[in-house]
Amino acid sequence: MPPFKPRRTSVTASVGGVLVGSTQPVVVQSMTNTDTADADATAMQVAALAKAGSQLVRITVNNDAAAAAVPELAARLADMGVTVPIIGDFHYNGHLLLRKYPKAAALLAKYRINPGNVGTKRRDDNFRTIVEVAVEYQKPVRIGVNWGSLDQDLLTQLMDKNAARADPVDAKEVYFEAMLESALRSAALAEESGLRHDQILISAKISQVQDLVTVYRRLAARCDYPLHLGLTEAGLGTKGVVATTAALAILLSEGIGDTIRVSLTPRPGGDRTEEVVVAQQILQSLELRSFTPQVTACPGCGRTTSTFFQQMAEDIQNYLREQMPLWKDSHPGVEEMKVAVMGCVVNGPGESKHANLGISLPGTFEDPKAPVYVDGKLRVTLKGDHIVAEFLEILNEYVARTYPAVERV
Ligand code: SF4
Repeated sequence: MPPFKPRRTSVTASVGGVLVGSTQPVVVQSMTNTDTADADATAMQVAALAKAGSQLVRITVNNDAAAAAVPELAARLADMGVTVPIIGDFHYNGHLLLRKYPKAAALLAKYRINPGNVGTKRRDDNFRTIVEVAVEYQKPVRIGVNWGSLDQDLLTQLMDKNAARADPVDAKEVYFEAMLESALRSAALAEESGLRHDQILISAKISQVQDLVTVYRRLAARCDYPLHLGLTEAGLGTKGVVATTAALAILLSEGIGDTIRVSLTPRPGGDRTEEVVVAQQILQSLELRSFTPQVTACPGCGRTTSTFFQQMAEDIQNYLREQMPLWKDSHPGVEEMKVAVMGCVVNGPGESKHANLGISLPGTFEDPKAPVYVDGKLRVTLKGDHIVAEFLEILNEYVARTYPAVERV
């Protein structure tokens, strides 16, 4: 595992005890899509997101009922033993809700403010009010600018200024500048209002990959606040996963981004925790963090016409993910284990030897046997109807031996 790359900021923010920024590992976060006023449903989803590995969970606090439900939500989470910090997402009325519901203000670990959505009149006053509450309760704030809800007054000012230039730049450039100005001016205003430099995080989200990369590179060059990174409104399914990965991979590889959120649109009835799994997988694929043992599986081809090995690869991946909540405490280091599940003899043994454990299944017309490699050496050849169970037995033995249990005091 390579060391973490040097990051561009020396600033570390604490969000409910979770450290974000500087040389800290990139933090995975997520957001609920339940009605916050429904404390039961929201608590269940927060618990599921936390169990999947989300280190911070954001909830919308959009009205009185949502703000009033925060203490009940916190109590339900405490009953379940869930300690993940909860972040409040505020738009339009955050200055009112945070003053009216002090228990919510005290329980939330961070406030997210969108400078484009703090009201059209008394914008700075409303923003200052939120910051004053943050100072009172010593909470960090994320100044979260979004392409879709930019401060329109600022944008108009910059557009007018650009139009008056002898050589006006492209309108998109003005948008980018408006996003950066909005974020950085708000951060300066927050500090003037009493928030510490290390209590401010910034995001500037856009839904287009190349635009996001451009804006974050500029943002990283112009400030040292920890950056919350994400492609906003990434979309559904494969498109959302690929677009997010493309954007985040570029920026994270450049050391830009201190906490990430993957904004997938779930399918109706879909699993909200998918966004956490994708975020973890991005970080693990970039070798920035390790969360769960990785399965290398070949795509299959005409040499293996059965779906047996596909099913086996999926079963093993699922098994590893299910075991991780137990293993992560009892078998430290197991998250770096690599397992290969291959479909035939062409690349099977070779790839298996590169993994901690590997199995090469028989392709069409090959002998019905599956050699198993452990740390690069042939350990046994499995045959018959119980290959998966026998392989999992070898895997469990390997985990117990290689990543010994930690004694609890
Ligand atoms: S390992 Fe075998 S089955 Fe898998 S893709 Fe390669 S040739 Fe095809």
